[in-house]
Amino acid sequence: MYDHVVVHYSEIGTKSGNRAMFERALGRNIHEAIARFGRIDVRRETGRLSFSLKNIAPEDIDAVVETVARLPGVAWVSPAVRTEPTMDAMRAAVVALAQQHEGSFKISARRTEKTLPFRSRDMNVELGSAVNVATGRPVDVHNPDSEYRVGVDSKRAYVLDARRDGPGGLPVGVSGKVISLLSGGIDSPVASYLAMLRGCRVIAVHLWNQSYSGDGVREKVLKIGRQLARYHAPLRLEFVPFEEIQQEIIVAAPAELRMLLYRRAMLRVAGALRRKHKAGATITGDSIGQVASQTLPNLAAVYDAAEPPVLSPLIAMNKMDIVKIAQRIGTFEASILPGADCCGLLIARHPSTGTTAKRLREAEQDYDLDGLVAAALDGREVHQLEPE
Ligand code: ATP
Ligand code: MG
Repeated sequence: MYDHVVVHYSEIGTKSGNRAMFERALGRNIHEAIARFGRIDVRRETGRLSFSLKNIAPEDIDAVVETVARLPGVAWVSPAVRTEPTMDAMRAAVVALAQQHEGSFKISARRTEKTLPFRSRDMNVELGSAVNVATGRPVDVHNPDSEYRVGVDSKRAYVLDARRDGPGGLPVGVSGKVISLLSGGIDSPVASYLAMLRGCRVIAVHLWNQSYSGDGVREKVLKIGRQLARYHAPLRLEFVPFEEIQQEIIVAAPAELRMLLYRRAMLRVAGALRRKHKAGATITGDSIGQVASQTLPNLAAVYDAAEPPVLSPLIAMNKMDIVKIAQRIGTFEASILPGADCCGLLIARHPSTGTTAKRLREAEQDYDLDGLVAAALDGREVHQLEPE
């Protein structure tokens, strides 16, 4: 019975100067995310976006609404019936909708133009009593089983059904591109997701030691990537071979420094890819003190090798809260699949927790990091992932 979907955004409404650009970006992202269900045209209307469901199969409407509700920048989404902006048309639509459900109900009507011949309060009374008479359902304004929102301006009215909350934030793309270092762990997918919520187009990069971690890790990281693609597709995921770099480090450096030197090498790879993709920042899943390589002195010593800014959305978050987000966004299950991360390779049982940048730079004198990074980039494997 629905013929439209109405999408409300949150923050982008506050950026008055860029509003049209933000609305267009969200419209494009909706269009792309829904393409697999059918062709839609997203329209910009005052303060909201809408699209017709005429090319969408009725059995897909739930999935369409759910898909849109996941997109960064969306405050809430609702399936809707669109009518002429007259009391008769709205009454017919809201009664038909209310006949589909049971229990108490409430009407929340809002006119957005003062020139309309009825006020919001008149609409609530008029539409509420029509539903009550037609269905026998009682009105309950405090704790209703269903709430029907009606939005009307001089051109059209929408009668909305239950709304589904989105994640808020900014539409992917409006903040430019970032390179996100994606391990097979719990944290970095969450960091990538949070960057998407701030409008970043994420290019995920995994450093991969094929002979050490094998295809299991590859499959695992692909799975994580496909989950992330539910928030913006296609997700570009690049596997960069890490074997040579690690071997050189193992030969050249004492065990307690290896992990930190691996990290510095990863940031170098990220920096090189940033230039290739014109990306504005490197994202990591670092969180202060979570593991030995993430003490403040070690973070400083590692980031010393990087082109700023290196941004870590999880830097001050607790593990429990990170896990909750990972579960909510659907990456947790893939993240806890078994699979040896490349960085377990010949590291010390007691890694250094207080290195200096100077010490790491000295260790790097013993190998040609720039050459190794360039060679690694040549061997990369690129995927464009769609949601599973
Ligand atoms: P995660 O759960 O993200 O793996 P972690 O707590 O295990 O995080 P580390 O293994 O110390 O942290 O890695 C710190 C960060 O370095 C990761 O969050 C990720 O951004 C990056 N990183 C680590 N290993 C890799 C890898 N193999 N490929 C790409 N990035 C990596
Ligand atoms: Mg890890």
